[in-house]
Amino acid sequence: MQSSELVGFIRDLYRTKDFIPLHAPTFSGNELRYVTETIESTFVSSVGKYVDEFERKMEQFTGAAKAVATVNGTAALHTALYMAGVLPGDFVITQALTFVATCNALHHMGAEPIFVDVSEVSLSLCPMALENYLDENAEIREEGCFHKKTGRRIKAVVPMHSFGHPAQLDELFAVCIKWNVTLVEDAAESLGSYYKGKHTGTIGEFAALSFNGNKIITTGGGGMVLCKSFELGKRTKHVTTTAKVPHPYEFYHDEPGFNYRLPNINAALGCAQMEMLDAFLLNKREIASRYETFFAGTGFQFVKEPDYACSNYWLNAVICPDEKVRDDLLKATNEAGVMTRPIWKLMNRLPMFEDCLRGELDNSITIEQRLCNLPSSSSLTFLSHKYE
Ligand SMILES: *Cc1c(COP(=O)(O)O)cnc(C)c1O
Repeated sequence: MQSSELVGFIRDLYRTKDFIPLHAPTFSGNELRYVTETIESTFVSSVGKYVDEFERKMEQFTGAAKAVATVNGTAALHTALYMAGVLPGDFVITQALTFVATCNALHHMGAEPIFVDVSEVSLSLCPMALENYLDENAEIREEGCFHKKTGRRIKAVVPMHSFGHPAQLDELFAVCIKWNVTLVEDAAESLGSYYKGKHTGTIGEFAALSFNGNKIITTGGGGMVLCKSFELGKRTKHVTTTAKVPHPYEFYHDEPGFNYRLPNINAALGCAQMEMLDAFLLNKREIASRYETFFAGTGFQFVKEPDYACSNYWLNAVICPDEKVRDDLLKATNEAGVMTRPIWKLMNRLPMFEDCLRGELDNSITIEQRLCNLPSSSSLTFLSHKYE
């Protein structure tokens, strides 16, 4: 396959000769109306109906017992880890193949990551690699799971559903139960992705979603903590809103809280975007299927949803035959005004995480060398699935 063929294919798909970004948001529903309403009413900030409405819509959509809106996905992850009981000095096992926010959040809890490999099917944390790592390096004591050599506690496991492709959650959950560690899902990229019929982010005790401008829906900036337990969900809301005890005028806070509440003006945008989500998902699947057809028989392997999952196909990706071919493709497409991107540098290559413990990372390394992300915007103008 020539790069020029891919450029032509993507230009046909998006029907434009202009620059094609990797992922642009689509606002073709009630976005302007709801946001304008918050401005006209002056309720743009911490008071207003849209935050509650956005949270209830998310609970309905995902099936989570409780959803708590936050200022961004990193704040949602930070809160999720806090609620999972991660303490300074703990280890948290995650994948090296992730966006830096996963590790930043646990770093700011005073915890340290341990990197384990991803599955080549889902590009997300591999349950076998996790189990092997624990078998070799951990032991169970009365107070939990401990890393043998350092004597430090391993408190949580954080799989990240890469580009929306769900990790093997049943298997991961089973390992977590066996080893007495808490499963926290980084579901920032996987709103609308299902694992065996269950929405991602509802299998772990807590999960984080992101509504950054490049995600499947956006609130400008925003995030959400999904909670499996309603009671812990109520406490999650409490700690993200300065832990203020409700009172008409008095200030009383009963624990150290975060100011992570999502402003009403952003939640208004979120409510409008939620109305579009089904249409976005249909379009995403159509774009993915066109890419799949395009790459068939080329030696480039289009990244498909695992057979146990229904993915949101948030960001499409292809595995190139080798690193050189991938680098040439990146160069040619970007020079032609079609944005493509390599996957993130592995976390263990970043200066602040280079000394962290890790298992074998063979799949992560191969994917890091060969993966290329492709334009994936869900523009409703060129596809059939419009929101009615
Ligand atoms: C987007 C993203 C986040 C959170 O991002 P924010 O910009 O803080 O909303 C976290 N983890 C992953 C894997 C992401 O892709």
